[in-house]
Order: sequence, then C-alpha cells, then structure tokens
Amino acid sequence: MRATLMYGAGDVRVEDVPDPKIQNPTDAVVRVVRSCVCGSDLWPYGSMPAAEQGRRMGHEFLGVVEDIGSEVSGLKRGDLVVAPFVWADGTCDFCAEGLHPSCRNGGRYGLDGVDGGQGEAVRVPQAQGTLVKLPVGEDSALLPSLLTLSDVLCTGHHGAVTSRVGPGTSVTVVGDGAVGLSAVLAARRLGAERIILMGRHKDRTDLGREFGATDVIAERGEEAVERVRELTGGDGTHAVVEAVGTEQSMDVALGVVRAGGAISRLGVPQYNEVPLGRDTFMRNITVTGGPAPARAYIEELLPDILDGKIEPGRVFDRTVGLEEVPDGYRAMAAREALKVLIQP
Ligand SMILES: [Zn+2]
Repeated sequence: MRATLMYGAGDVRVEDVPDPKIQNPTDAVVRVVRSCVCGSDLWPYGSMPAAEQGRRMGHEFLGVVEDIGSEVSGLKRGDLVVAPFVWADGTCDFCAEGLHPSCRNGGRYGLDGVDGGQGEAVRVPQAQGTLVKLPVGEDSALLPSLLTLSDVLCTGHHGAVTSRVGPGTSVTVVGDGAVGLSAVLAARRLGAERIILMGRHKDRTDLGREFGATDVIAERGEEAVERVRELTGGDGTHAVVEAVGTEQSMDVALGVVRAGGAISRLGVPQYNEVPLGRDTFMRNITVTGGPAPARAYIEELLPDILDGKIEPGRVFDRTVGLEEVPDGYRAMAAREALKVLIQP
C-alpha cells in the first residue's frame, strides 16, 4: 500500500510500504477513508534532522474495518470507525480514569511497527478499546467533522475542560490554528460568556468568530496582554487555552490569566521551562493540559456533530489525495492552508 513518510525537515514522501495485517488477536486493520495533517506534524516538518529511514506519519483518521483479530468484540468488518490519536486498551486503571494517553498497554501511531494514519490502511492495536463505530455511511457529508473527533475537536475540548471553562466564565484562546479554533467551539459549547481569540490570520479569526469568539486580538506579546487586560477590567480571564506551544505564547498565557485561574497547554511544548515563580504563586495560578484523552470525550461530542449543533470540520480548508500529501504539508507550513484533509 501507499503511505506517508518523513525523511527530514521539508522532506515528506509517499511510498510503498507493506500492507498491514493482523499481528495480535487484539488488532484490527482499518482502510483509511479520511485522514489529515496535524499542526503537530509541522514541528518535525520544520526541524527533523535528515534520516536514512523515513518516519511513518499521521495519527488522525477514520475508515472501514477490513479485518479483525479474534479477541476484538463490538466491531465487525465493514464498520465505519474513528480512531483517537493514541491507541489504548480501554480497560487499565488510567483508561478507567479517562487518561487514555497514559494507557499501560497503549501507544502512538507511526512508531514501533504501527502504521501511521496518512496512508491507505492502518493496523490498529487494542482495537476494541480504541476504535469508535460511527453511525453513518462512508459517503456521509459529516465525515470531515467526525474526523475532528480523532484529535482537534477533542483536544480543544480538553483545553476548555482542564482550564475549567463553564457557564459564565471568560476564556482567552492563544493561537488561531485548528486546535485554537476548536477550543473556541468547545468553550462556547460549555457555556463560556466571553471568548477572546488571539490570532493574526483574518480568515481564521473570522471562522473563530463563527465558532463563538466574542473578541479577536491580533496583537502579540505584551501588547496582546494589555489588550486582554483592557477588555477584562484589568483582571484577565478565568481560563486560558494555550494552543501554540512556544515560550512566547506561554508568556502571554501567564500574562492574561486571572487570579485563581487556569492555563491549559495544548500546543506541544517547544520549550523546557515555564516561569512559575512568586508572581504565579501569589496569584493562585494553575497550569494544566497535555495530550487529550480523545477516546474519553467522543461519546459526549459525537451527538452534537450528528445533530448538526457543531460543525468542527469547517477547519479543513483544503483536500488532497494521498499522492499530494507532501504538497499538503507545504501548504500548511506556509500557512496557505489551515488544515489539510486527505482523501486516499
Ligand atoms: Zn489503558
């Protein structure tokens, strides 16, 4: 089959790889119907040292179960399923707590002999605990929105939940990428009263307004902090969702959080230290966040997509075939595309 590999910064190739087969009785093989490029894929795309051996890419996909191991129950061949961005058994103590990224028997796509999602098919380990059956057909117009259950919608929701967004709260979302916009959507869904979106790309912040942002701030750094302070009577917002992952965006988050508030980090950190000295201590600031347990949120979010209450698939603004995936990376890295949908 064909699949996407990264060989270094700016070097993405689509190549022939072995067809996935059932290896363990807990596996399923899924034929990919829709996949996409993640903002987090852009970090290695910008910095990965050149390698002899390519790295299999992609961790967001939905598709049809083609083959299934003998110990997998609740799924059958022909089912359309969505895959959360990590696989997990669904039965260990961490999974029971809703912390699937820490599953004792789980792991990530594209590593240790597991396929990536940006290909024609994927062997999914721990299929029973991982895959969620979707009650629509392969031709459903809802597929882009359903695909966001794999990562961005659940990740945005995780940011809103962990930063304690609820009815009447105020929230700042730092970053206008697909995760930031999904956090806006999730915050509105949870009843936030004021949602301040920080971003400089007008087409993205316009979509953010449609998703529920009440204010948009294009300034950066200290100026952005000042603007939020002005909008909130000097206090800052109860919640902050940091959806970039840089030291600068974290500084902004710390600058705009209200005393007693919480910052949720969703962007994969490109830094090693956060200044949590006397100022944040005296103001009772919580810093939380991390990889979302997408599997734990799907049951809550799926009905709103099926009912048409939310349309998170609007973050996809370009569709490519599998052979065009390298250009999809280029377009996202150049900020020509917000998020690229792959239709193998
Ligand atoms: Zn587990």
